Amino acid sequence: MPAYRFAPLILSALLATGLAGAQTSDNPLLTVSPLPLHYPQFDKLRDEHFAPALDQGMAEQLAEVKAIAENPAAPTFDNTILALEKSGRLLSRTTTLLFNLLGADANPARQQLQTDYAAKLAAQRDAVLLNPRLFARVEAVYAARDKMAPNAEAKRLVERYRRDMVRAGALLNDAQKTRMKAINAELATLTASFNKAVLAEVNDSAVVVDSADELAGLSPAQIAAAADNAKKRGLDGKYAIALLNTTIQPFETDLQNRALRERLHRASVARGARGNAFDTRGTVSRVIALRQERAALLGYATPAAFVLEDETAQSADTVNALLRKLAPAAMASARTEAAELQKLVDSDQAAKGQPSFSLQAWDWSYYADKLRSAKYGFDESQLKPYLEITSVLERGVFFAAQQLYGITFKRRMDLPVYRDDVRVYDVFDTNGKQLAIFIADLYARPSKRGGAWMNSYVSQNPLEGTQPVVANHLNIPKPPAGEPTLLTWDEVNTMFHEFGHALHYMFNQGRYPSLARVPRDFVEYPSQVNEVWADWPSVLANYAKHYQTGAPMPRELLDKVARAKRFNQGYATLSYLSAAIVDQRLHQLKPGQAPTADGIVDFEAQVLKEEGVDFGPVPPRYRLPYFSHIMGGYSAGYYAYIWSEVLDADTVEWLKANGGLKRANGDVLRTKLLSRGGAEDAMVLFRNLVGHEPDIKPLLERRGLVVQKP
Ligand SMILES: [Zn+2]
Repeated sequence: MPAYRFAPLILSALLATGLAGAQTSDNPLLTVSPLPLHYPQFDKLRDEHFAPALDQGMAEQLAEVKAIAENPAAPTFDNTILALEKSGRLLSRTTTLLFNLLGADANPARQQLQTDYAAKLAAQRDAVLLNPRLFARVEAVYAARDKMAPNAEAKRLVERYRRDMVRAGALLNDAQKTRMKAINAELATLTASFNKAVLAEVNDSAVVVDSADELAGLSPAQIAAAADNAKKRGLDGKYAIALLNTTIQPFETDLQNRALRERLHRASVARGARGNAFDTRGTVSRVIALRQERAALLGYATPAAFVLEDETAQSADTVNALLRKLAPAAMASARTEAAELQKLVDSDQAAKGQPSFSLQAWDWSYYADKLRSAKYGFDESQLKPYLEITSVLERGVFFAAQQLYGITFKRRMDLPVYRDDVRVYDVFDTNGKQLAIFIADLYARPSKRGGAWMNSYVSQNPLEGTQPVVANHLNIPKPPAGEPTLLTWDEVNTMFHEFGHALHYMFNQGRYPSLARVPRDFVEYPSQVNEVWADWPSVLANYAKHYQTGAPMPRELLDKVARAKRFNQGYATLSYLSAAIVDQRLHQLKPGQAPTADGIVDFEAQVLKEEGVDFGPVPPRYRLPYFSHIMGGYSAGYYAYIWSEVLDADTVEWLKANGGLKRANGDVLRTKLLSRGGAEDAMVLFRNLVGHEPDIKPLLERRGLVVQKP
């Protein structure tokens, strides 16, 4: 799923982008970029510029924080909260650039910087958030916020700062703070070693076969890649199938050899629990115990209670209620789908004159793919000639934004880029004035991490007078020189999705950059809504034209895409939900209840049974020993995707009921939602827009799920 990353909250809050100091140096990081909107000087930047800028940035921030904390004047909003909001500018600028480039264009020097500075940046965070004198001043402003805060947003900002400090442990006594720092340090080490083990085992677990015959069903290019893969492992003449981190492996769709599909599947689900050097069960157990201890120190019953309090869901009960409402519907749909697949297995075997077998997890993708072709005659290759990359971006994504919001775009070639295939656009508001700069970094490259995401180089910040420089990153394979880039339907949707994040960021009109952040379970909502325009008839007619003939995409082709949307949704929903449920149940355990290393796998099995989502042919998308999301930033948070989708589906209903793609709707969306960032409670924004509490029905309809009557 496309991810959207905000910088860790307080770091982004304290490190708000700012204007230049007076230093002169050949290090472009030490001064604010003179380019339009402070667009980064990619042409002047060298990797050796980062370390000195990081060091100086950290020192400057600590000095600024010290000055705020030790200010002899009585605490006020301006001399405490606003001063914090303006501090750490150099560090913010530098970390933003470094981490953006690590995602989009990593190299060993940048990776080494990440390793070298991870612990230092974490300690920096503790040094600020757990500074007792600083907290005393924040607390004083907080206590008098009704009088001291100049406006409602300022009051919310005060509350945000105080809450972040309290959640970091500012109210603890010295001994507890010491323990908290130790817990944070151990957690950082454990999660790093978890990620390292998972990655290493993915690479180690390749399934090796002796002959190409066993690989029937794969394309010649895939077979060649498997041969190459084996060679790299010193297994000349053999074939190695590399693994990905999900439970289901992509080749399970293509491999005709059932025994090999089973081997591949078993290799995948065994990861992290084989008792070898990559075994993560002890790590998972310890991480949960530490999270429980941290939650208890902070006064929460469970880690989930601690995490969810700061999300729109607010409590474990609310999340449980949503997941438990969806689970039976997903289970019922998955069972119906399984029955249909079983029929296909039976007839397929009968045609071969062989006995049938009962559908297993390693059969699902293989037979689902066959069924999809039979049912919809859907072939990606028929669509692609109508989905040329520039047309999709400029006459699709931009066109929809222009129709809806009245904003316009103009490509510019004069600004430096970190790779030749990165495109830059000026974005103009309805009044013709510049709104932002948009960077479209669409192509895959070995130095880019997987997936798709949005990030920003410069944020909208009225305190500094800055406007957004926003980037979308995708991983579209680059064709050979001279050939057009033709997209898959999925890639088209991803482009609309990521641009939804960009719009949310560009339209933010908040007074304070820290309040641009929205909760994790809300952030995918505006981006998912923007996907609705991908196959909106007037938008599609504008961009989906044959790249050679200019002919519009035939309607019947698109109808097939639309009909296939609900195919296999029971499976997709159940595999996602079961993982989300295991995440919740694990983080809803109380101190002392963390499963031991030996009990991790049994715990997962037990939860799946208890929650009625235990269905052999549909295993969880991730199993606990390799569930990286929840060992990282999505602990007790994997539910966020479907939570956002409930809001999204409901909002799309509202849009359709109000005439769809028209300026008036864009104005409402922009005014009530996109311009507000986190300046108002997220669910209040939703209700103000749609006019009611979130309704789950549109999501169920979209996914073709049926709620069982009790
Ligand atoms: Zn997203």
